[in-house]
Amino acid sequence: MTQATGRLIDGNALSKQLRAEVAQRAAALKARGITPGLAVILVGDNPASQVYVRNKVKACEDSGLHSVLEKYEAGMSEAALLARIDALNRDPAIHGILVQLPLPAHIDAHKVIEAISPAKDVDGFHVASAGALMVGQPGFWPCTPYGCMKMLESIGYDLKGKHAVVIGRSNIVGKPMALMLLQQNATVTICHSATKDLKAMTLQADVIVAAVGKRKVLTADMVKPGAVVIDVGMNRNEEGKLCGDVDFEGVKQVAGWITPVPGGVGPMTITMLLVNTMEAAERVAAA
Ligand code: NAP
Repeated sequence: MTQATGRLIDGNALSKQLRAEVAQRAAALKARGITPGLAVILVGDNPASQVYVRNKVKACEDSGLHSVLEKYEAGMSEAALLARIDALNRDPAIHGILVQLPLPAHIDAHKVIEAISPAKDVDGFHVASAGALMVGQPGFWPCTPYGCMKMLESIGYDLKGKHAVVIGRSNIVGKPMALMLLQQNATVTICHSATKDLKAMTLQADVIVAAVGKRKVLTADMVKPGAVVIDVGMNRNEEGKLCGDVDFEGVKQVAGWITPVPGGVGPMTITMLLVNTMEAAERVAAA
């Protein structure tokens, strides 16, 4: 697998393929009278969140899923939001519910996520979903690490016995990523801001997943030749251009495989949201 420069794992191309599969599954379910439906809730006017929800709704429509975007003013009360979620939990036309984060400070995001029915938790953030992943039971996997797993699968990478180093331990990326890699029989190391010698860890890795949110956390001297490097980070460089956590130009000279930013993990995250929504609808249809 070692080569002079890393081969790209193209998140756009893989997304296109997976979204075509979702569209086929959606059409098959529709033929049985069920249209998979996703409700997206946005509270407030955070500009980045507005772009994210628009992209999610458009992706649903493009794949033949029904989507409802509910926008509320930043002053919406927590009680009103919980009441909306309760109504959506009981709405048979809705199979997935996504509350775009961050929420305004007066709303307890944890309480809101816990109010979503685990059967409709297509973001995979509910404690029940996290628990299901932990014990290897069916549930919904958080979309970003799930997308990373699909990228590894797409290159036919066998994780068994490999050493995977995850940089970052958030509940939405780092921790679930580590559990998914573990489930595929990798030996997993989780690094974070208190890790003493990050380079000593990453140099041992066959697979590195960087999920930090800081540019150039991973540079070429920190990567074993031939390693697979997955870059989850989303940052801006001096020119305001989107970039990841990985020094892409340097690391691609050493890595066996590498994901670009943009065009890597980003599109996969939305794709896995569609996959989870599809799965939620299919589970209802099978019940
Ligand atoms: P987060 O909650 O801020 O977590 C960042 C993690 O990085 C923390 O665990 C932190 O450690 C660790 N960290 C910080 N500085 C470090 C350092 N110097 N060395 C090692 N570890 C360090 O962020 P997140 O939500 O997981 O997201 C991470 C990045 O992925 C962000 O850039 C975000 O925008 C991006 N992201 C992208 C997508 C996508 O679709 N592409 C989706 C989600 C997130 P401590 O726990 O010790 O603080």
